[in-house]
Amino acid sequence: MNTASYDVIIIGAGAAGLMCALTAGYRGRSVLVIDHANKPGKKILMSGGGRCNFTNLNSTPANFLSDNPHYCISALKRYTPQHFLDLVERHGIEHEEKAAGQLFCKDSSKEILDMLLTECEWAGAEVRLKTSVKTISGVDHGYQLQTSSGTLTCESLVIACGGLSIPTMGATGFGYDIAKQFGLAVLPTRAGWCPSPCTRS
Ligand SMILES: Cc1cc2nc3c(=O)[nH]c(=O)nc-3n(C[C@H](O)[C@H](O)[C@H](O)COP(=O)(O)OP(=O)(O)OC[C@H]3O[C@@H](n4cnc5c(N)ncnc54)[C@H](O)[C@@H]3O)c2cc1C
Repeated sequence: MNTASYDVIIIGAGAAGLMCALTAGYRGRSVLVIDHANKPGKKILMSGGGRCNFTNLNSTPANFLSDNPHYCISALKRYTPQHFLDLVERHGIEHEEKAAGQLFCKDSSKEILDMLLTECEWAGAEVRLKTSVKTISGVDHGYQLQTSSGTLTCESLVIACGGLSIPTMGATGFGYDIAKQFGLAVLPTRAGWCPSPCTRS
């Protein structure tokens, strides 16, 4: 099989991977998203009891738990809940506010997934499913991946494989393994989902 080259390859077609793909695509980069699952965004579909609590208008950095509390400040300043709401409204998705600024789809989480996939298409980002990654190696100016659909190279590689929860939805520890392979420090994992308001235990 021939080697195909992209500016950006993203592993994981969940919420993070698709958002990254459309953003990179609109920046003019050639983008491929690969996922070993047979469908993208399975966790999006089950989120919010099937109606996706897609943002919270009152989110601030204080709502995020992290050993580095400053980590999310710049991210939240550059992309606010209102930015995501504007995107949702451009796609005509009806939504409703529950308690404390929590916004849910009126109909179904599928609308959020469809919106992200449509934006990926408009941005020229390709999504390839049922594709597993065998190895990743660093090469000059980027990365080389051996996958079930051949050899791929890219300048930028994004690991968006999600966390360990719900393996039946496609979750694996792959991201952690890759981080270790490239010498990044990996902290022990623990359950991260908690009721609102969250408290540090
Ligand atoms: C029941 C439930 C309800 C939720 N409700 C909400 C809500 O209302 N609002 C909210 O904001 N959040 C909600 N969440 C959390 C939210 O769904 C997740 O935080 C979010 O979907 C995570 O997105 P992600 O892209 O990081 O990871 P994921 O959605 O897990 O995506 C990772 C992708 O990577 C793929 N992958 C994994 N390993 C590999 C590999 N080795 N090779 C190739 N592909 C791989 C997987 O198949 C998957 O498609 C909910 C979660 C659950 C479980």
